[in-house]
Amino acid sequence: MSEKDQDLELFDQEENKKENVNISDEEKDTEYEEYCFLCRRSESQCKNKLIHLPNQINICPECMQKTFDGFHNSSNIQFFDMNDFDMSQLNLLNSMPKRQRVKKKKKEESKPKKEFHIKDVPPPHQMKAQLDEYVIGQEYAKKVISVAVYNHYKRVATNTMEEIEIDKSNMLMIGPTGSGKTYLVKTLARLLDVPLAITDATSLTEAGYIGDDVESVVSKLLAAADNDVEKAERGIIFIDEIDKIAKKRNTNSRDVSGESVQQGLLKLLEGSVVEVPVGASSKNAMVPLEQINTKNILFICGGAFPELETIIKERLTKQSSIGFCSDLKDKYDNEPNLISQVTMEDLREFGMIPEFIGRLPIIYTLDALDKNMLIQILKEPKNAILKQYQKLLALDEVDLQFEQGALEVIAERALEKKTGARALRAIIEKFMLDIMYQIPKDDNIGRVTITREYLENRGAPLIEMRGIAALPSNNLEK
Ligand code: ADP
Repeated sequence: MSEKDQDLELFDQEENKKENVNISDEEKDTEYEEYCFLCRRSESQCKNKLIHLPNQINICPECMQKTFDGFHNSSNIQFFDMNDFDMSQLNLLNSMPKRQRVKKKKKEESKPKKEFHIKDVPPPHQMKAQLDEYVIGQEYAKKVISVAVYNHYKRVATNTMEEIEIDKSNMLMIGPTGSGKTYLVKTLARLLDVPLAITDATSLTEAGYIGDDVESVVSKLLAAADNDVEKAERGIIFIDEIDKIAKKRNTNSRDVSGESVQQGLLKLLEGSVVEVPVGASSKNAMVPLEQINTKNILFICGGAFPELETIIKERLTKQSSIGFCSDLKDKYDNEPNLISQVTMEDLREFGMIPEFIGRLPIIYTLDALDKNMLIQILKEPKNAILKQYQKLLALDEVDLQFEQGALEVIAERALEKKTGARALRAIIEKFMLDIMYQIPKDDNIGRVTITREYLENRGAPLIEMRGIAALPSNNLEK
């Protein structure tokens, strides 16, 4: 053994000694969390008690289950006998770093549970006024959703009313991408302080096939409600991209991610008791199960339904092409917001099964965003993108301003991208990079005004020094 190796060994021994001393100290204090040896998640992340093995090895129930499953599935190992298990193998576990531990989060003082009361839910006009502060345009959608949600929670509150049972007001929201469907639901859930789970319908498949089964949406809601079953039972589930589970046409194979998912969702939409795993996405022997009744859960489905306009156009043309008053074939080609004339038949034609649409009695559409709406979205909502940048620069004591012309350029570029308001952030981010990079260099800069010329690469933003008039800045020119 070389001298260097000996040194290293000595060093290792010293380190081990130190660690052993630390362990005994550490064992005493309970301020530190334990980790799963395999997945490296802490006990609080696992949301389940860790299983303690010899040699200070802790394993979470999920990994333990996976290990057993692995033994079971392996073709080489057919029987697993604990007597054959060589405990010396566990010595490699000594390599586990012992100092990598995080402090436990302080437990929040448990608040007394609040009883749900209809008075906690604002009336529709107030709800819409609150939504107005965040969501631009979409007046009809905001009105419908406010009334429907108010009625839904009235129904939840008067659960005991036996003679007249109020039907569930599940909703179907149709609107182009980036028009604010998810944003509307998110804002609403925040205002009402109810748990919200957002799922993509594309990830769902019929139970037993690869993918999440439909009940996983309820287990997401339970997680959003901090595993509080009562709270989850009056939450909101938003299923996005619902148009992607339309019945597949011309297919001979089993439609496990289309029609079958619609069938699977029926009983959830209607209201039924489902058993969902707590703290995991799939049911297995190590995960506790909870029973949840979906009777009072509000389901909102959303989708862009891209070919729906063609179906509506065909229907309208067919209706008006008979007799003397028949219209020209292309009459509806340039009609804006044709989608708002959607009917149940159109949706059935699109591939949604009648039982599914029947369980979503409230159907409404969102408008495509135009240039003016995009400009408003830039500057008006409570947490508008421009306000966010202004706040960032205000921390450097710089006042950020945008000329109307600049806003128009941003909105026009976003329209070209055809992804609604989603494109705005990416466009702004691109040109703000230079500004955010250069401005903190000079303490004398007091105000920056973004101009149309700057965005069109024909000039520079206007820079105003503290106490001096505005100058176009050359060093910020692209
Ligand atoms: P989708 O309709 O595809 O679900 P989102 O709701 O996710 O679109 O919208 C993306 C982002 O665009 C939101 O996070 C929000 O900031 C912004 N946005 C979209 N529509 C509006 C609107 N009408 N008012 C304000 N912001 C909006």
